[in-house]
Amino acid sequence: MSSLPAPPAPAPEWAWFSDIDGTLIELADTPASLGNARHLPGLLTALSGRVGGALALVSGRPVANVLRLIAPCRIPVAGCHGLERLLPDGSLIRPPASSDLDRARRILAAFAADHPGVVFEDKDVVLGLHFRKVPQLEAACRAAVEQATSGNLGWFAGKMVFEVKPRGLDKGTAIQAFLDQTPFRGRLPVFLGDDLPDEAGFEVARARGGFGVLVGEPRPTRALYRLESVPAVLAWLSTLQAL
Ligand SMILES: [Mg+2]
Repeated sequence: MSSLPAPPAPAPEWAWFSDIDGTLIELADTPASLGNARHLPGLLTALSGRVGGALALVSGRPVANVLRLIAPCRIPVAGCHGLERLLPDGSLIRPPASSDLDRARRILAAFAADHPGVVFEDKDVVLGLHFRKVPQLEAACRAAVEQATSGNLGWFAGKMVFEVKPRGLDKGTAIQAFLDQTPFRGRLPVFLGDDLPDEAGFEVARARGGFGVLVGEPRPTRALYRLESVPAVLAWLSTLQAL
């Protein structure tokens, strides 16, 4: 695997998209934890102002959770891996309820109840099964997720988590939708992310003339550049604020 270079100096003319966990803040043991996120509101407010408002967060967290995390900062957000999108006018786009998802919810909640240490996360339109505290249960969790996936649902693996969600929408489609709107339209897109669901975002950024930045250890990726850690991301962004 060839090693990726560090990204070029950041530019305020770009359209900025970023994941949160593992990218702007360190990963936490449980999904509900705020981790070390105290720097987020100030950082995002300054960055958004610096780039003319062309900054959106694209997270696996639900939009409501992201808004609590970044308050009082208010910027465009795509949540639940692109299934939810908060529009500039404050309205929230999300997929309708689904009986397939209800069935998956029952199966995964029951599995977590029977397996201490496994954390079931219900994000309404996306369901997560976290095994960070019990890595030896990965195979059992995978089997439960496969059993829970039916109809129009798909599943994917993240860092110590399996997630179930409707097919067809992902972080890439969310970035695409933002890029068709002011103030993102016509700008070169850059997307920062650390995890496998971020690959769809890297792909779209590249297809629209920009690039992805992988955060963390090298791996096969569609990103063109890499930064080694959350502190490296914050240092890189700080050069933009100082411009
Ligand atoms: Mg992440």
